[in-house]
Amino acid sequence: MKITLIEPRGFCFGVCRALKMLDDLLPEHPYVLHEIVHNKQIVGDYQQKGVCFVENLDQVPPKAHLVLSAHGVTKEIEKKARQNFTVTDTTCPFVKKNHRWVQELEAKGIPVILIGKASHAEIIGLLGQLKQKAFIISNEKDVDALPNFDCVGVATQTTLSVDDTQQIVLALQKKYKNILFQNGVCMATQERQKAVKQAALTNQLIIVVGDKKSSNANRLVEVAKSAGADSVLVETVEDLKNMSFPDTIAITAAASAPERIVAEILDFLKRY
Ligand code: SF4
Repeated sequence: MKITLIEPRGFCFGVCRALKMLDDLLPEHPYVLHEIVHNKQIVGDYQQKGVCFVENLDQVPPKAHLVLSAHGVTKEIEKKARQNFTVTDTTCPFVKKNHRWVQELEAKGIPVILIGKASHAEIIGLLGQLKQKAFIISNEKDVDALPNFDCVGVATQTTLSVDDTQQIVLALQKKYKNILFQNGVCMATQERQKAVKQAALTNQLIIVVGDKKSSNANRLVEVAKSAGADSVLVETVEDLKNMSFPDTIAITAAASAPERIVAEILDFLKRY
């Protein structure tokens, strides 16, 4: 069996930054609103270190130190949090850049279209930067149902498939004469997808290490499959225990997946 470790993989700039900020606050036993990043192992590790993860502000005691996750929050949540707690905001600067973009569009009176998953924390945060309604779409078919406008502004979630996003933008360009588009898919996402596409040409199976909730992990599996390889999303080495394996395997990891799980999987495969 030939095993390749795909580069780049794993922690991106935004995740490293958010985790370092949380590490620095550990002596204060901070609270974190939502998962700091979408990965159960990381959340579990921090719970062991005394960090408390909550889903809403009512669960945070007065005067606590509250950390906002890397995915960002709505303006309203941020305002309430700052009124009641000491706040550390770990929102990735690339997510913040998208926040500024949609605010800029709204200030110019341009209708905003967001490409992404409506239930994802990042899209909820992005939507919550606006006073007015925005239109959320996740595929080319959704474009047909959008109203007609003279001009639209388009923003994206940071962790989308590069290829799918291009197709959706093409469909939008067919529908609207004037589009102001800022590609919000971050460089870390783009680079990881490009590397997986390349690896899929010479490997039968691409193992993606990541949380089932992680958008960028799920996109890596899709990218590998559409490039012709088989692919599986693995949270821990346990997920591999009943599998059989082909001769050529490449391993990657989502931007929020810890490298120690990659090492455990590599060790398991070497002994297979
Ligand atoms: S995937 Fe991109 S946007 Fe998300 S935290 Fe990493 S660098 Fe930031």
